[in-house]
Amino acid sequence: MRISIDEHVCIGAGQCALTSPQVFTQDEDGFGAVLTGREDGAGDPLVKEAARACPVQAITVDG
Ligand code: SF4
Repeated sequence: MRISIDEHVCIGAGQCALTSPQVFTQDEDGFGAVLTGREDGAGDPLVKEAARACPVQAITVDG
C-alpha cells in the first residue's frame, strides 16, 4: 500500500487525521499529511476509510 495526499487539492478539513490518526496528521497550516514512515499505511484498516472521508478526494491509496 502506498498513500499520498495531493496538496493542491487538500482543503485542510482534517477528516483524515481524525479517522486514521496512526497514519495521518495535519501540518502547521492544518493541511493533511502522512506521518513519516507510515506511507505504507502501517497496517491500519482505517486508511481506506480515511480516504473515503476526505471531502475533496485528495488522498490516493494504491495497492
Ligand atoms: S481529509 Fe482531505 S482535505 Fe481534509 S486534511 Fe485530509 S487530505 Fe486534506
